[in-house]
Amino acid sequence: MTSPWLDRPSKPVQDPLNPEQPVDDLVVGAGLTGLATALMLARAGRDVLVVEARHVGAVTTGNTTGKVSLLPGTKLGSMRHSQSDRVCRAYLDACEEGQQWLLRFCADHGVDVDRRDAITYAASPDEIGTARRELEASQALGLDTHWVDSMDVPFPFHGGVVLPDQAQIDPMPVLDALVDQIHEHGGRVHEGRRVVGASLTGTRRATLDDGTELTAKEIVLATGVPVLDRGLFFAKVEPKRSYALAFTGAAAPDGMFLSAGSAHSRSIRDAAGPDGSRRLLVGGEGHTVGRTDSERGHVDRLRQWTAEHFPGAMETHAWSAQDYSPHDGLPQMGKLPRGGGHIYMATGYDKWGMAAGIAAARTISGQILGSKPSWATTIGRRITRPAGAAKIARINAGVGVAQVAQVAEGLRDHTFPKGSGESCTVTTVCTHLGGALDWNDEEKSWDCPLHGSRFTADGDVLEGPATKPLRRRKD
Ligand SMILES: Cc1cc2nc3c(=O)[nH]c(=O)nc-3n(C[C@H](O)[C@H](O)[C@H](O)COP(=O)(O)OP(=O)(O)OC[C@H]3O[C@@H](n4cnc5c(N)ncnc54)[C@H](O)[C@@H]3O)c2cc1C
Repeated sequence: MTSPWLDRPSKPVQDPLNPEQPVDDLVVGAGLTGLATALMLARAGRDVLVVEARHVGAVTTGNTTGKVSLLPGTKLGSMRHSQSDRVCRAYLDACEEGQQWLLRFCADHGVDVDRRDAITYAASPDEIGTARRELEASQALGLDTHWVDSMDVPFPFHGGVVLPDQAQIDPMPVLDALVDQIHEHGGRVHEGRRVVGASLTGTRRATLDDGTELTAKEIVLATGVPVLDRGLFFAKVEPKRSYALAFTGAAAPDGMFLSAGSAHSRSIRDAAGPDGSRRLLVGGEGHTVGRTDSERGHVDRLRQWTAEHFPGAMETHAWSAQDYSPHDGLPQMGKLPRGGGHIYMATGYDKWGMAAGIAAARTISGQILGSKPSWATTIGRRITRPAGAAKIARINAGVGVAQVAQVAEGLRDHTFPKGSGESCTVTTVCTHLGGALDWNDEEKSWDCPLHGSRFTADGDVLEGPATKPLRRRKD
């Protein structure tokens, strides 16, 4: 499964690690958050090294739907349940600064951006109330949104909130330009090495999967959900996976659409296709990682929906990705609790990380450079209302149920052929906290229903809080 963004020749980035030379800042993870943080620090004259376990954009950023919008689906309406308007406004200020930074960066470095209206719409009469609540929340928080009863679209539409003149991107040219600019400012990026441990007292040292030790004054964990488990963020966010398809031969509607329902949501946009054509992108069908009967079933439902509403559309790409949904609706970004004051993290963008990821980069680089934005202080000092605390309880109750169900089923070793008559057996127990893994029938991976770690069929880490491969033996 490959997104259209990642379906291109790749350019390996292997700048020297120079483990004997301590750096100012070690950034772990080369998605949008890590690379933007690294560039902001390198521009300030600091010696910066980015270490990436896989390749630039490999995990969520390279598999996003790339809407750079201040209308985050139905998030503002639900956020107002657990946060004061002052905190919600600080979140919007953060996203607005992130959006402007990103669009300015694209303009300065020749990266294409499409301007589109963002629309949160009711796909059925049941969803009208939720879409209306988003209208009310967005207007109360100062966004220039309006309501439309109908639009010229080929799918069910029962009214929606519109925020004009937002943006959509292909994330990979953005990441390429960030890497170029990091180089321009003397920074380095090294792909293919995973951070597996860190000593945080005294001198900060990170250990890589080949045993190399790197020393840094500050360490930034821009890893989706923070690895190393300090701060216990894996228990405060819910890993949510969803699916997307790209098509040619269909006229995409004018705008970036997201339906207001939580079950079987639909996300629609267009994108540049081959030879100047436009592609239709259809996404949705989110669920908690590792907790569904069949991942393939979700993709099939997206296919059926597209065939019904865009007859003649020809599928070119199918892909999937996950992001982390926070207990109180807001991202966590800044200093890591129990990180000795020199470890930083960002997580919990809830599938709205294009602008918020840049806001996190501003927060972290601001903390290191002594120029933290005021909205970051408001977000950082928020108090979780009962609705947020209840969500933490719900997340962890779900973890408990998933674990009991899986343990009851029994832990199994799985053997699969490796070619030339050899086979390999993996133990399907998560190396993070011992969850029994679920087989993902669409992506052929082992997915952990507890905290969202994922592994290849033969046991390598793909993503999530785990840092070690599955136990395996060659038969
Ligand atoms: C299906 C989907 C659609 C989305 N659509 C949108 C959208 O339209 N608009 C929007 O604003 N947001 C969207 N998002 C959210 C957005 O894409 C993400 O929030 C954002 O890309 C996260 O960026 P990141 O840099 O924090 O994480 P990532 O891009 O996941 O980067 C983290 C990197 O860290 C690396 N890493 C992890 N562990 C280690 C380790 N131990 N050592 C070294 N490296 C490590 C990983 O390999 C990875 O490359 C979507 C998310 C999903 C899942």
